[in-house]
Amino acid sequence: MTERTLAIIKPDAVERRLAGTIIQRIEDEAFQIRAMRRVHLSKAQAEGFYAVHRERPFFAGLTTFMSSGPAIVLVLEAPDAIRKWRTLMGATDPAKADAGTMRKEFAQSIERNATHGSDAPDTALYEIGYFFAGVELV
Ligand code: ATP
Ligand code: MG
Repeated sequence: MTERTLAIIKPDAVERRLAGTIIQRIEDEAFQIRAMRRVHLSKAQAEGFYAVHRERPFFAGLTTFMSSGPAIVLVLEAPDAIRKWRTLMGATDPAKADAGTMRKEFAQSIERNATHGSDAPDTALYEIGYFFAGVELV
């Protein structure tokens, strides 16, 4: 079933000029890019995006990091896109990520881990709507 997910190339990867390499991987893996934009989140916008994690000990650090510089947000479409993109990203902690995954290759730490991906259909809908209006999905 064709599905959409929200991907982010996080500030650590944008700062290190890895965006082009990551977008190439997205295209090589046959995702359709339905929307893409560069954003510099405010702290409050990062807190809204990661609101499900607000009770976690890493929330303050995560939202400071996510608002520390520009990121690139994308809507990816493919059969089974949510799981497919998370598989390509690899485990949250790069030390546990499989070889060939983006976090294994590009993440610097469990926090500065290069990419984000939605984890379920309901969160994908929320996250896509957080950044894009329906008319922007092409
Ligand atoms: P994402 O939601 O960004 O795709 P994920 O689903 O693999 O990542 P989550 O548990 O949703 O992982 O955590 C969200 C983000 O919070 C992680 O990607 C990482 O940047 C940060 N994070 C998660 N766990 C930790 C931790 N123990 N210490 C520091 N940062 C963390
Ligand atoms: Mg997550």
